Amino acid sequence: MSVHVHVRLNDGYAVTEDGHLLELSSCHCGASWETSYRVDEGEPESI
Ligand SMILES: [Zn+2]
Repeated sequence: MSVHVHVRLNDGYAVTEDGHLLELSSCHCGASWETSYRVDEGEPESI
């Protein structure tokens, strides 16, 4: 038996209401998942 390694095919992006970026991915085997990124607005407080 071989071990299936998921291949992340990009399904696009979405933005949630609280400003997070969601990367939608899926594999040809049917698995799908979302990866969320925090989108920081403005400059970091390190002046
Ligand atoms: Zn897979």
